[in-house]
Amino acid sequence: MNFKQLATKYKTPLYVYNLDYMSERYKELKEAFKGRKSILAYAVKANSNLSVVKHFGDLGSGADCVSIGEVRRALLAGIPPYKVIFSGVGKSDDEIREAILSDILYINVESEAELFRVEQIAKELGSVSRISVRVNPNIDPKTHPYISTGLHDNKFGVDIDSAKRMYVLAKNSTALDPVGIHFHIGSQLTHLEPIYESAVIVADMVRSLLAIDIELKFFDIGGGLGVTYDKEVTIKPYDYAQAILGAIKGLDLTIICEPGRFLTANAGYFLTKVLYEKQNGDKKFVVVDGAMNDLLRPSLYNAYHKIEALVEDKSKTKVVDVVGPVCESGDFFAKNYELPEVKRNDLLIIHSAGAYGFGMGSNYNTRGRSAEVAVKGGEDRLIREREEFEDIIALEKEFI
Ligand SMILES: *Cc1c(COP(=O)(O)O)cnc(C)c1O
Repeated sequence: MNFKQLATKYKTPLYVYNLDYMSERYKELKEAFKGRKSILAYAVKANSNLSVVKHFGDLGSGADCVSIGEVRRALLAGIPPYKVIFSGVGKSDDEIREAILSDILYINVESEAELFRVEQIAKELGSVSRISVRVNPNIDPKTHPYISTGLHDNKFGVDIDSAKRMYVLAKNSTALDPVGIHFHIGSQLTHLEPIYESAVIVADMVRSLLAIDIELKFFDIGGGLGVTYDKEVTIKPYDYAQAILGAIKGLDLTIICEPGRFLTANAGYFLTKVLYEKQNGDKKFVVVDGAMNDLLRPSLYNAYHKIEALVEDKSKTKVVDVVGPVCESGDFFAKNYELPEVKRNDLLIIHSAGAYGFGMGSNYNTRGRSAEVAVKGGEDRLIREREEFEDIIALEKEFI
């Protein structure tokens, strides 16, 4: 990829996505489940640009959505309703109503209270809502606490006993159709055991439901597959699929897998330019034109992103903090990072920025969000324009 050319053509800061890489990851994971009924439902929140969602839709992907906005994106991008799932711990009545009216595959229910709301709303609409229950298997996924979701300490899902009650309730309701069961224990998982253990717990639950005549069709294993940002050794799709298949042995279920990060993280690059170098005492800083409002992960999770300097002479290096212009000390891309010597206008490539990058962006400090560019078959296309001042204030125009 010619980053220099792209930066000249579209300016910086800039997100660049390699759609061909996304296709490869999609096919690799799909292949791992070969011979079994399976749907990959791309987790839209990882990178929700319409062109990216459509790209996965064109490959046959479904969509896992965590707001009605994401459901709308998926449908707008051409993903058929029967491949769309709506998850999330706090769905509003309006969201539930629209999801039922959109006739999506199912709503992932995350509490007993929510189940009652879904039932009530389906009744009011004279409809039947397909549901799945998100089970919290209380398994430690061994990832960053902010992205762990499968422990009782986390707000997600319901414990096994509550889940069972909910299935019985749904089975006896004229407005609910329990079709699936779901777990998602965390993100950036690099160990297979917690996933396997969770799958075994949830598969046992499926068997015990079968015994009371509740027959589910979908075994929704969530997402969470980790990727390599630095040197992490992570889970291989083949081993992942084998573990899941092992857990559901003897059961006739369609597997739903909801990968986000795995499909997009390493397809994305964030391009930013050096503005200044400065030194406070012994501490050296490289100030760039991108910031935490563009790519929040380092600030939020202390996440590592590889930074590559596009300079000819890489022999001389300095240990620096790479920081943005935002008025927060937490505004950094890397700390104590060994970077080749750079000067004003040199280009830095921040790697692995395709997942939870642009989508976590904001207008903090009244900074417009970066433009987004997709590269496919060697051709580049602008898929979202850079936000200008007028875009940022558009909804405040009638100020008092
Ligand atoms: C975030 C999320 C995913 C995707 O997680 P990744 O770690 O990006 O694969 C899948 N399912 C649910 C319910 C989610 O909330």
